[in-house]
Amino acid sequence: MLILGLESSCDETAAALVTGDRQVLAHRLAGQEAAHRPYGGVVPEIAARAHVEALEPLVAGALADAGVALAEVDAVAATAGPGLIGGVMVGLVTGKALAHAAGKPFVAVNHLEGHALSPRLTEPDLHFPYLLLLVSGGHCQLLLVEGVGAYRRLATTIDDAAGEAFDKTAKVLKLGFPGGPAVERAAALGDPRAVPLPRPLKGSKEPHFSFAGLKAAVMRAAPDHAAADLAASFQAAVVDCLLDRTERALQRSHGATALVVAGGVAANGAVRAALQALAARHGLPFIAPPLWLCTDNAAMIAWAGAERFAAGLTDPLDTPARPRWPLDPSAEAVRGAGV
Ligand code: ATP
Ligand code: MG
Ligand code: FE
Repeated sequence: MLILGLESSCDETAAALVTGDRQVLAHRLAGQEAAHRPYGGVVPEIAARAHVEALEPLVAGALADAGVALAEVDAVAATAGPGLIGGVMVGLVTGKALAHAAGKPFVAVNHLEGHALSPRLTEPDLHFPYLLLLVSGGHCQLLLVEGVGAYRRLATTIDDAAGEAFDKTAKVLKLGFPGGPAVERAAALGDPRAVPLPRPLKGSKEPHFSFAGLKAAVMRAAPDHAAADLAASFQAAVVDCLLDRTERALQRSHGATALVVAGGVAANGAVRAALQALAARHGLPFIAPPLWLCTDNAAMIAWAGAERFAAGLTDPLDTPARPRWPLDPSAEAVRGAGV
């Protein structure tokens, strides 16, 4: 089975070819950092235009890298949400058009499902159910992944996502854009105990995350501290919060066979190390995708497409873009925060 996957939900345009037996035959990616850098964040209209320009050459390049023709793919998968509507539309319409032109089925993929299943692309022994910490630019959730299309949300953030907090911290500390890797680099040179910062909801009876108070504290502390010390202290606080909330979920066990992390913040070394140790304390395997598979890419979309296609799940060509699309539709909104 050969799946072409497309991703365009935020500021990465990407195309990949992945097989049903976990071979990544090609994955191409075009970042837009330079276009957004002057604004210190992603500008939706600039992103959508950049996706239009980048996508076709990326698809052609991926097919060439893999040495296959479009006619040889078994299905085309594209992100249908959640994300910036303009960008999602570009990838979705392109994916549908390619599927139609090739006479192949189309698979609409939830971007978060791409992150959620990505660890299974490189880890054949990762079986359901697993406890997933999904930490990305727009989301911070604990999910019990029970199967393809079966995600039980155990916790979410009541305000900001962890990646958002990294990005804001980078902006306040003038470390550059994108923020996460810049904060991690600065943190390596600082003292994590230098600045006392809050750990919102740590030890709380409720299962959720919160990062708004931490972000505000970083902004207040910024004028009085070295950027490296503040970056290190911020990162330590985030790790503490993620660990505390994940441990709470692990204690309730839910029958998880592994502790798994995915999403852009899963690329962070301190986050990975802390979760690894937590899993070991609980006698569970710890699975984290390689760094390139943590941040946005199309291999994870192609892989989620492969998993859905194998389960007989394909979608009609009038499938709409869904700028908001919770992985667990039964989960209740938490204090009006993101899903
Ligand atoms: P979502 O997946 O929620 O829609 P997104 O697609 O924008 O959001 P991802 O590409 O999965 O997010 O992740 C990007 C986020 O990951 C950014 O907030 C970025 O700062 C963060 N990030 C990337 N690398 C690191 C790192 N090394 N340390 C901490 N954060 C990181
Ligand atoms: Mg990005
Ligand atoms: Fe993402």
